[in-house]
Amino acid sequence: MPPTAFRVVPFFLVAACSSPAREAGTRPDDVRLPPPLARDRSDAVVSSGVQPAAQSAARVIAFGDERAVEELPRFFPETTYDARVPNPDRLLRQPLGTFTAHHHEILGALRAIAAAAPDRVRVVPFGHTHEGRELVQVIIASPENLRRIDAIRADMAKLADPRGSDAAAIDAIVARTPAIAWLGYSIHGDETSGTDASLAVAYHLAAGTSEDVTAILRDAVVVIDPCQNPDGRERILGLFEQGSGYVADLDASSMRRGRWPYGRGNHYLFDMNRDWMWGTQPETRARWAAIHAWHPQLLVDVHEMGSGDTFLFYPATDPLTPHFPEFTRKWWRSFGDDQAATFDQHGWSYYTREWADSWYPGYTDSWGTFQGAVGILYEQARYAGGAVRRPSGEIATYREAVKRQATGSLANVTTLARNRSAILRDYVAAKQRNVAADAPGNDRAFVLLPGRQPDRERDLVDALVTQGVEVFRAQAGWKASEAETTGGAREEREIPAGAIVVPARQPLSPLVLAFLAFDPRYDEAALKRERKELERKGRSKAYDVSAWSPAHTYDLDALWCAMPAVELAPVTAMPAQPAGVVALTDASAPVYGWIVDGEADAAVAFAAHALESGLVVQMSDEPFRAAGRSFARGSLLMRRVENGPDVAQKVAQAAASSGVQAFASGTARSADEGPDLGGQHFTLLERPRVALLSNSPVDTDAFGHVWHLLDARIGVPCSLIDAQGFGYADMRRYNVLVVPDGGGDVLRENAEDVRTWVRGGGTLITFGGASETLCDPELKLSSVRQRSAVLDDLGAYRRAVKREREAGTTAIDEVALWEGRPPPKSSGAEPDESKESKEPKDLKGDEAKEHDRFASTFSPQGVILRGEVNLDPWITVGCRAELPVFQEGRGVLMSLPPARTAVRLAAPERVRLSGLLWPEARARLADSAWLTVERQGSGQVILFASSPVFRGWFRGTERLLANAVVYGPGAGADLPRPR
Ligand SMILES: [Zn+2]
Repeated sequence: MPPTAFRVVPFFLVAACSSPAREAGTRPDDVRLPPPLARDRSDAVVSSGVQPAAQSAARVIAFGDERAVEELPRFFPETTYDARVPNPDRLLRQPLGTFTAHHHEILGALRAIAAAAPDRVRVVPFGHTHEGRELVQVIIASPENLRRIDAIRADMAKLADPRGSDAAAIDAIVARTPAIAWLGYSIHGDETSGTDASLAVAYHLAAGTSEDVTAILRDAVVVIDPCQNPDGRERILGLFEQGSGYVADLDASSMRRGRWPYGRGNHYLFDMNRDWMWGTQPETRARWAAIHAWHPQLLVDVHEMGSGDTFLFYPATDPLTPHFPEFTRKWWRSFGDDQAATFDQHGWSYYTREWADSWYPGYTDSWGTFQGAVGILYEQARYAGGAVRRPSGEIATYREAVKRQATGSLANVTTLARNRSAILRDYVAAKQRNVAADAPGNDRAFVLLPGRQPDRERDLVDALVTQGVEVFRAQAGWKASEAETTGGAREEREIPAGAIVVPARQPLSPLVLAFLAFDPRYDEAALKRERKELERKGRSKAYDVSAWSPAHTYDLDALWCAMPAVELAPVTAMPAQPAGVVALTDASAPVYGWIVDGEADAAVAFAAHALESGLVVQMSDEPFRAAGRSFARGSLLMRRVENGPDVAQKVAQAAASSGVQAFASGTARSADEGPDLGGQHFTLLERPRVALLSNSPVDTDAFGHVWHLLDARIGVPCSLIDAQGFGYADMRRYNVLVVPDGGGDVLRENAEDVRTWVRGGGTLITFGGASETLCDPELKLSSVRQRSAVLDDLGAYRRAVKREREAGTTAIDEVALWEGRPPPKSSGAEPDESKESKEPKDLKGDEAKEHDRFASTFSPQGVILRGEVNLDPWITVGCRAELPVFQEGRGVLMSLPPARTAVRLAAPERVRLSGLLWPEARARLADSAWLTVERQGSGQVILFASSPVFRGWFRGTERLLANAVVYGPGAGADLPRPR
């Protein structure tokens, strides 16, 4: 997506023309919305009950009020500053921290500081957001170090990869090279104080003339990423400003602090603090390259938490990801102790180790740690740009929050500079262990067997290489004994030449081992802690998902095995798939039609683009042979006679825009026993007219993930329907409605209209909680039920599962059949109760309900389970018989015919693929429905038990949603008859 496609219209430049900002003294070239409360409202503050002592701290200062600025407490009163460098308190329209500065104001101030201190500061752009805003890094170093900054980077690269440097060379680098700090602020856009603090830190280091600053700059280079999420920040600032009044509002829960969709995510509402291993967003990918060029030893990620809280920093709490580097664990103590001592001087409250575990490796600080740095997280109480009355009654101001973030940052870079030599030595020692043959795990390799889904394989390899991981292609095949498969087996495997090999032994060894592991497991202590918390308090201590294995989420063929002794060639990029039209050999012969293979994900994008351009597209329900090759089920056919004279041109355009090949066929006759191209195995598709439910109460993440898939990845037009005004939407415009988690109540409130729309031919797609809502019989939209509602009938569901699994495989005893003997015993009988099940079959009624409620306490926080795929229905084209799926939450869906279960979770002993699944959860989830498709009149209802597009990583199940949206209106619903 080119960044310019989203360039923001700066509407507030217009809106501000008549604003009080001008009267309040804003420079004419600096027209912006006024800060909340553009004049001193101390009277109002008193009348709102604030103690007089707190007035000066709580009041708002207008631009140009020099006396008030002078009276403000300094951030760092002990430090002396070079007066030639402009102080942010006077650079901005109000003093720093007395309001929330916009992204462009922060960048403007940073550039003004850099212009005044060019020997210490450089501002270097490194990327753009979806909405076109600039990402910059601010490099601050002593004049001597800044002059030789490229040499410092080159030295640091040698420490990060010590292969080829002898001990003397390393000693020389350690002796002459400053340590590197990367300080990243406010990746969650509505946790605003970090970005304002970045300006305080930059000014302090750029202008400071006393020993505290010169000591830092002598031994450290500080790189500031001032605003990690400009799009999110600007979104929330608009809400802050629109919600502000003239009277100080000290209520932390006031709506002026934001509303849907808040500022946490980026443009597509992705949480970028979970995106670091994946790089689904342009901000993450730009940052990968920027950080990788530095090889920092310290990486700080600055956040905010609840307004009644205090301040959290590291050491983190357990569990840590397996292979978590010892380097980080050791130095967390020093950084934490020094930061604590600094906070103690101010009497500030803080804590460490109470929450925010480091199990999931895709957080900013975890990713920094796996790159080799000491990754540190801050969480400062959130005051949302104003003042807040804390639970203890005191008034806390935003400027104090900014000061704490800045003070923490400077404490950390001081620790880094003071310990420069020891940290660099430990850093390089860790890297030497990473490339040592005898380090634990280093004799193994992750092996990707290409061919399953080339686009996904290319994207995964690209993500690894761009993060700095070394990837190779095996030049010969080999036999791997004890190969660990994604399904959990250990077996001997023949691996062909061309396999992709990611050795554990490399400078980023911990990242390879942690990220690519199939089934990382909590240790016994962590399991006991978590179990105790669940049993005693009914809640989990886990901070995020327990599983992430990309081989599973991308549904690829991969193995972990011993490092092969075959020749390897480095891979820097996997080739793109060929795209375009493959014409008939005889160019003068007539074309019957053009065919696009249905296996690759890009086929869905092709269909979307082709339908949008007006092409008539048919989809096959069986594999077939034509044009000299095989085509998978779900392949797409554009017949010449059904389309207009520009059909060839339109096919070529859609093939190019979606990256697929379209093969011309001169005949409708099958080349083998498969279907001919002119018959009933082809279904006419219908152009999807998609509505995506948006706005509160829809979950922002779930909404954003779908929006990103449909808009940025597939490229299908998609209308965002307002959940707050759903009753006013003219649903006749749409034939697909996607309702993410959180939107269930909107369906409930509008059940009759939704029913009419579905029965008239609509395709309704829901997930998570919205699917659970549809299970309510009163809505009359689905025969699927929540498990908790059918506890007395579980036997019937078990029998249905057994029949479903045996369907088409029953042995036929011909003699018995013709002579009327009884059927074989197993058929239709209830399967044995699993040993795993903790729910005895004889529990009924209230007892069963009570047990189910208790068992649901142990529901997964985010695991990868084995789905069994029904390969008959159209919705599963492009899938294989088994598919790893994401599961979270308490809901469990139970299905019987007439609902078709397209994906069912596997039996208890096979269902867990990766992540923590307690026996109670396994018993509830095993054999339940994960994806159902059900006809309702002329339309259909499609229920996903959990999100198929979680965070943009579940490329395997994402395919099911893409199929549902693009193929659903034609393949699963009745088309209106032409007249
Ligand atoms: Zn945060």
